[in-house]
Amino acid sequence: MQNHNPNDELNLENDKFSKQLDQDERILLSCNLFKFNDYKKRQERSLLVSTKNVINLKGTSIKRKIPYNKIKAITLSSIGTEFVIHVPDEYDYRYSSYDKRNKIVSKILEGYCLFTKAKLAIYFKEDVSLYNYATTKSDKKKHVSKIPSEQPQYMDNEIFAQILEGETKEKDDARKKTQTLWAREKGKEVTLDDFSILKVLGRGAFGQVMLVEKKDTGEWFAMKTIRKEDIIEKDQLEHTKTEKMILEHVNHPFLVNLAYAFQTPQKLFFIMQFMKGGELFQHLRMARKFDEKRAKFYVAELLLGLGHLHSKDIVYRDLKLENILMDDVGNVFLTDFGMAKIVRKNELAMTFCGTPEYLCPEVILGYGCDKTADWWSLGILTYEMMYGLPPFYNKNQTIMFKLIKEAELRFPERPEVSKEAKDFISRLLVRDRFARLGAKGDFQELIAHPWFKDINWEQLIQKKVPTPYKPRVQGEQWLDGFDKDFTSEDPNKVIDDDHSKPQKDYDQQFKDF
Ligand code: AMP
Repeated sequence: MQNHNPNDELNLENDKFSKQLDQDERILLSCNLFKFNDYKKRQERSLLVSTKNVINLKGTSIKRKIPYNKIKAITLSSIGTEFVIHVPDEYDYRYSSYDKRNKIVSKILEGYCLFTKAKLAIYFKEDVSLYNYATTKSDKKKHVSKIPSEQPQYMDNEIFAQILEGETKEKDDARKKTQTLWAREKGKEVTLDDFSILKVLGRGAFGQVMLVEKKDTGEWFAMKTIRKEDIIEKDQLEHTKTEKMILEHVNHPFLVNLAYAFQTPQKLFFIMQFMKGGELFQHLRMARKFDEKRAKFYVAELLLGLGHLHSKDIVYRDLKLENILMDDVGNVFLTDFGMAKIVRKNELAMTFCGTPEYLCPEVILGYGCDKTADWWSLGILTYEMMYGLPPFYNKNQTIMFKLIKEAELRFPERPEVSKEAKDFISRLLVRDRFARLGAKGDFQELIAHPWFKDINWEQLIQKKVPTPYKPRVQGEQWLDGFDKDFTSEDPNKVIDDDHSKPQKDYDQQFKDF
């Protein structure tokens, strides 16, 4: 038995596999990693870097052997975990390795240098995904080459190591500048580096929401990024602080949960549960109307979520379809607490905010609002789910506000809706907030309404009631639940422009965050 080479992680040197290598071929490295196929799917593979070839393995069987003289260059993501081996005669390989990428590249450079006595060309790209730089088999058939067009850098493994040293220092500095603000698991430190960015999901009033994967566990989360500059410019520091406070303290089956929050000098990051079912807005758009049973199920879950916020003296203030997300089995959750406000008993929130269709008369009139404003919006939403449009809707906002203040509430003949449902809506859409359902006993009053007599609340809160609709979430089908304008965007283009602008200092404003 020979001495074990620590870089030969798969111990192929001592395996019968080694018989497939040439007599004078030495193993420089072997390890597991991920390879992307033509359809962008990640596959578990192994790689062997020898003194003569780079070999792609599935288990211990050789899938492809690339001699060094066929390799023209390597492209490296300077912010992600991917690298591409360019093989112009055939097609390229796109790989990813979270913890060993640089070591693999270094060994390829070493092997290349030993074999060809020359330095290998390297391109550095500031993209997380190198999909756009890997020539696939089908590109090749179409005579398309995706190898970067700029001048490459030529280097051996020693120069590469020097570059990395500088880069690691930069990354370390960035890591030092990142401050974990909160983690559901106590004591866990996280930074942007712990996540791979997969897709753009949406954009709110501040910053954007991305689908991210936690590198060590493979779990998916939704990451909300907010630029501090925008918060200050739009005078939203208090709202953002409230949102963070709510996300941290509020843990409820029908409210989107926060997993981590952290900040860099320029941005805030909220890492939240990913709602694979997407926006209720998209589902209503597809279905046009929900039948009464389905609408009732959603309203019941939402009123428990709102009731929980109210029990903590929080008024949500922005109930609307766009802020309701669905999990992978069809339960609904409230998200986006940017408008929420702490309003104690006998106090009123005076700011004019919310979304026009759902505003209650007292806000339009400037009288201020309390928890009962959420119950008005729930009335609007219940109506909208069953009839397809909010009750006082008008394209002209001035007219719509007039209708909200004065118009009689009318129920169309079709679709047919039970008298209990109409009564529930009518009692929520009472203009005098003191007489509105929920004014005295909050959500308990709503629960007691006859429309809900067939709801088992105990079972509902434990998510044991079968959901009326299961979103299609297999494979890429979950994308139907999101706005295509966002999900079709290239996440690399929007990822991190922290360095593209002059940096302002927000330490003072965010020091107690
Ligand atoms: P927001 O800024 O919270 O209004 O979010 C903007 C959009 O991002 C939403 O309309 C959703 O499409 C998406 N989004 C936000 N949070 C999540 C989440 N936790 N899971 C999935 N998608 C989300």
